[in-house]
Amino acid sequence: MAQDHQILLYYLYRRIENSRDFVEEHRSLCQSLGLRGRILIGEEGINGTVSGLREATERYRETLGNDPRTAGITFKIDPADRHVFPKLIVKWRPEIVTLGLGPDDVDPTARTGKRLNPSEWLAAMQEDNVVVIDGRNRYESELGRFKGAVCPDIENFREFPDWLREHADELRGRKILTYCTGGIRCEKLSGYLLEEGFEDVSQLEGGIVTYAKDPATLGRDFEGLCYVFDQRIGVEVNFTETRSLISHCEKCGEPCARYRNCSCKSCNRKFFLCEPCEQTKGRLCSPACQELVGNL
Ligand SMILES: [Zn+2]
Ligand SMILES: [Zn+2]
Repeated sequence: MAQDHQILLYYLYRRIENSRDFVEEHRSLCQSLGLRGRILIGEEGINGTVSGLREATERYRETLGNDPRTAGITFKIDPADRHVFPKLIVKWRPEIVTLGLGPDDVDPTARTGKRLNPSEWLAAMQEDNVVVIDGRNRYESELGRFKGAVCPDIENFREFPDWLREHADELRGRKILTYCTGGIRCEKLSGYLLEEGFEDVSQLEGGIVTYAKDPATLGRDFEGLCYVFDQRIGVEVNFTETRSLISHCEKCGEPCARYRNCSCKSCNRKFFLCEPCEQTKGRLCSPACQELVGNL
């Protein structure tokens, strides 16, 4: 199919005056361009991902580039043959990525980890006394992650401070590398680690999606797919001979990157389920969920 659409992923931490008015203005802009996706705007900046016709997304980039409030923003761009979002959502939020650090919130324009480009990142991962921390959630790292990364078993970033308290001893004195999808979560995560007294903290600039496009690294040492928050769900990262799937259907164990939400309403857990298993065994994730639904 013709790749006449584009998907943009972007964020910018920069104080926006009258950010609530900016939301209305920005929604009108996106509507006039026929864009779909999800954009969060707050006093601290803007965080978005949208899809649209190529010319529309190019006009959008140009408009943001010419606006002093958003000039200099970096866009990650993927070609597509269609929209990958069902609708447009532009919202005001106190935080443009919900980390829920509360009084421990960090301002990434004041304090953040050292930024590594893809080549620097790949080299840093090979050094001694390094620990690589996946800054994302359980269902993201289960689809794909950097080789050897520590992946917190959390459903939401809000659980990260507790996870860190439990694992602080293992991390003390080590060189910490953090990564996430597009880089935005690491802006605060790496700053938070510095605040918590870890001294040597670096982050993958632009996240996995930037790493995947880097011609020098070709996504090396990334295993599986990168989880994305649109209809594609997973995108390729590793373009070397070591590419592989790391996820398996929970019912039959075959390699599988197809996520479904458990149809038990009170569970709703994301789990890997291949198409044949869904057809024959249904979409409940566990015997416990089967029993729960069966007894209703
Ligand atoms: Zn299966
Ligand atoms: Zn379940």
